[in-house]
Amino acid sequence: MFQNYNQLVEKISKSTGKSSDEILRLVEAKRAKLSGLISREGAAQILAAELGINFDKEKVKVNEIMQGMKKVNIIGKVVKLFPVREYKKENREGKVANFFLADDTGSIKTVLWDVNHIVLIEKGEIKEGDFIEISAGNLRNNELHLTGFSDIKKSNEIIENIKMQNEAGEKKISEFSLGGSFKARAMIVQAFEPKFFEVCPECGSKIIKEGEISRCEKHGRVTPKKRALLSIVLDDGNGNIRAILFSEQIEKLGIKQEDLESERFSGKKRELLGKEAEFSGSVRQNKLFNNPEFFVSDIQEIDLDRLIEKLEKSPIVT
Ligand SMILES: [Zn+2]
Repeated sequence: MFQNYNQLVEKISKSTGKSSDEILRLVEAKRAKLSGLISREGAAQILAAELGINFDKEKVKVNEIMQGMKKVNIIGKVVKLFPVREYKKENREGKVANFFLADDTGSIKTVLWDVNHIVLIEKGEIKEGDFIEISAGNLRNNELHLTGFSDIKKSNEIIENIKMQNEAGEKKISEFSLGGSFKARAMIVQAFEPKFFEVCPECGSKIIKEGEISRCEKHGRVTPKKRALLSIVLDDGNGNIRAILFSEQIEKLGIKQEDLESERFSGKKRELLGKEAEFSGSVRQNKLFNNPEFFVSDIQEIDLDRLIEKLEKSPIVT
């Protein structure tokens, strides 16, 4: 349920009154006892259970829902409701209802299978535009499925700034998948020699070289602009991935293009290594090497205030 190990440690710390340092020690002790066969997150979950902390009632946001999650509790708005359908298969028949549930982080297709839930829609007790609360939903193929063990009811809570488009959710690098957009808090653990290429100063398209002359397909003869490309390796403690940064992102790390082009880069490289930030981007296949690469589109300093605010906004219900 928690994508962030530190977040989990913080929650255990807050609800037990023990310092987070102590929780970290207890987690490591638990792992040692289990001969390191369990992940830090797994050990922390066991510790939480042993300390009597129950996360089952914890609510999540759409962009926090992860593959394989069971017992998803969430509040959102029914933004698009489809007509109830009947289905008939060889040995089963019944009804199914679908809608999109959205909150301020994105939307998710939600599927109802239980007749007691579906009747709420048929009777108009739950309709498009309503805010609802779902308990114990299951995630299947990026959809939220409600069974007889789940619950759905109207909520008095109103969420502003409903988003249909999913924001890049914070994820562990080990959970990145090809084609997806992600955000991860990670450390730069390796940086390779920068590469340069030339683009049209007007439109940024690739330049066609005709001897000494540089041409843009759209803008004709131009004086090309040099752009930099930097490959780095990002590591979040759970996994690592090769990432690609272009000029704008490189600048966000405090490196000017001049620094890249000269021997000054070796000094700058030392500054880069160990730097931690929030990296957003998309995962694409590198055609040349046939491995996934993270194309970084934004880099944000880690905002501790926001991190703390986020933790405080989701109090633990035990
Ligand atoms: Zn151009």
